[in-house]
Amino acid sequence: MVTISMQKHRILILFPLLFICMTFSVSGWGGAIHAVINEAAAQNVPEEMSAWRAYAPLLAEHGADPDFWKRDDPAEPVRHFIDLEHYGTPPFEIPRNLSPLKNGARREGEAPWAIMDTMERLTEAMREKDWYQAARIAAAIGHYVGDTHQPLHCTVNYDGYQTGNAGIHLRWEVQMPRRIGSAATVTSPEPAVYITNLWNCVNGWIMEAWPLCANILQADNEARWASRNNVESQYYFFQLWEKSQDVFLRQISRAAADLSSVWYTAWVDAGRPEIPPPPRQISSASIHVGRAARSPKEENRKGAIAVLAVIGAAGLIIIISSVFKQRRQNTPPAK
Ligand SMILES: [Zn+2]
Repeated sequence: MVTISMQKHRILILFPLLFICMTFSVSGWGGAIHAVINEAAAQNVPEEMSAWRAYAPLLAEHGADPDFWKRDDPAEPVRHFIDLEHYGTPPFEIPRNLSPLKNGARREGEAPWAIMDTMERLTEAMREKDWYQAARIAAAIGHYVGDTHQPLHCTVNYDGYQTGNAGIHLRWEVQMPRRIGSAATVTSPEPAVYITNLWNCVNGWIMEAWPLCANILQADNEARWASRNNVESQYYFFQLWEKSQDVFLRQISRAAADLSSVWYTAWVDAGRPEIPPPPRQISSASIHVGRAARSPKEENRKGAIAVLAVIGAAGLIIIISSVFKQRRQNTPPAK
């Protein structure tokens, strides 16, 4: 189970996040669940990376950010899902290299490729010791890893329309955990490991999540039958939780374990750099749009380099001109 100090952090974090969830309708695990996954993952990194645990509150706070980026960035929604049926029947063959689309985002979803791309950026930020940027990218990849463990993010029948379960997406991932409250926690995640082949690993998560859609849809059928089809009632949600909590709890615990492995792998590949205390705050803006939101430290460093370059160039001009002047003075006048 999570530690007591984690619980304290969680309470502090969950209140504002729950408020946000109630205010906006978002897709993906509810914001509170993304916070739970990111925080548990940060606590689950190996001892040699233990300084990363101090980042837990920050990573939890920003775990839901990518869902809000969807409003302004048309390329964002597809990063959160993949319709596996587009790639045949089980075992699905997902191509590692996809040619970029001419006209925007891939309708079938881009979650696995988004994770690969974001992982490269996380490793690079850690290698450059840009911990402000690393925290932002780590929170985002946490979201994408979390979403690939949500079975309904891996299917074309993501909202149950094909099977008479319309609306199940929001009911299962946002409304149910909100109604049952503190029971939706990460329990005993597997220890983090170094991932030697991330692409295969991501494929494994998705392939394991996909068949669980059937369990969720079946739980919805039974809960609707038991509640006389009153999907707004507390009884319906109680029944839905009763019949699908094993899937729910297992998937959020696996998401936390796999995410801690992802962060650990990025850190090892970056050369195990020393991790400083976390920044006090990070931006909630998209890490993809413009890719301009550099850390204040990075901006200062670049500014300082520019000033030094100007001073250096000016110094060089002074030295060269004084050498020429001296030479001219030493040259004997022509006869
Ligand atoms: Zn999402």
